[in-house]
Amino acid sequence: MEKIILTGDRPTGRLHVGHYAGSLRERVRLQNEGNFDKIFIMIADAQALTDNAQHPEKVRSNILEVALDYLACGIDPNKSTILIQSMIPELCELTFYYMNLVTVSRAMRNPTVKTEIKMRGFETNIPMGFLAYPISQTADITAFKATTVPVGEDQEPMIEQCRDIVHKFNATYGETLIEPKIQLPKNAACMRLPGIDGKAKMSKSLGNCIYLSDEPNVVKQKIMSMFTDPNHLRIEDKGETDNNPVFIYLDAFATDEHFKEFLPEYNNLDELKAHYRRGGLGDVKVKKFLNNVMQSILDPIRTKRHEWENKKDEVKEILYTGSIKAREVAAQTLEEVRNAMQINYFNK
Ligand code: ATP
Ligand code: MG
Repeated sequence: MEKIILTGDRPTGRLHVGHYAGSLRERVRLQNEGNFDKIFIMIADAQALTDNAQHPEKVRSNILEVALDYLACGIDPNKSTILIQSMIPELCELTFYYMNLVTVSRAMRNPTVKTEIKMRGFETNIPMGFLAYPISQTADITAFKATTVPVGEDQEPMIEQCRDIVHKFNATYGETLIEPKIQLPKNAACMRLPGIDGKAKMSKSLGNCIYLSDEPNVVKQKIMSMFTDPNHLRIEDKGETDNNPVFIYLDAFATDEHFKEFLPEYNNLDELKAHYRRGGLGDVKVKKFLNNVMQSILDPIRTKRHEWENKKDEVKEILYTGSIKAREVAAQTLEEVRNAMQINYFNK
């Protein structure tokens, strides 16, 4: 069986360091390792419209922004196919058939959807499409016969729901669809990176992000204003590192090499944490180190992004050809689905 990756992002804003830690860094690694036969990376504009129906211009303008972030991080269009979801209408048809295999109560039980309904203040006015977006995500994953989906922890219920639908489809209509596996980051801090406000996860919709494209002074200002342990008031106070966003970011991003380069008096993060816990280490020193770490990761991404920003026509061409290529694959799967469902009335 071919090894295939499908993953993607909603074009609701530029990508942030949570995306990088949770999924993007892993995608680039898997792409360059070369162990996968195909990699599809989707800009999920149709899904973004499920909670942004009133703001199509926002979704439209962010397609290019997300594509620039991909290319800046090292997604290589010669190795990975970048596609725009709405350019593949076959996905809508698959979604329509899969919807019959999911009950409304099952859809309502999805914990990520539940959190997002609260976060977006939908209360009882939940758009139908929003409730169904995990089903459309199943169409995305199965259309490309994905075996692996590298994502952050918030996507776990989506992949579970996808696997349920695949089971139900295959049991009802015969073995047709491939069951995917989730691939979470190994590092717990990367699974759900908190926002700079220390709340929930970093999320475009919550405005608590460090964006991959933020200029150096903006990154620095955001880091210096980050929440830390509220009881760590004076340098000599003992500090908490576990629920402290600054240390969670260091867990996600700092390497021993960063210590050698920027803070050689410590060998590694464990030593820095131990000092903070026993008291005598100030927040400003830790934040300055985090700033150096983040700038060293973001500098090359920023430089590459500026290069691609001057080649926007080339980026559009990458999106167009990627979408056309992906559509052929989805059309083939749809054909197989229609055959399995016996709605292939006029096939010879
Ligand atoms: P929105 O607020 O519009 O939902 P988002 O910031 O949650 O945007 P998505 O496009 O929904 O971003 O998510 C894209 C991918 O990035 C998914 O694989 C998701 O798991 C991952 N991801 C998003 N936020 C984080 C985070 N804070 N930590 C780790 N992974 C994340
Ligand atoms: Mg999201």
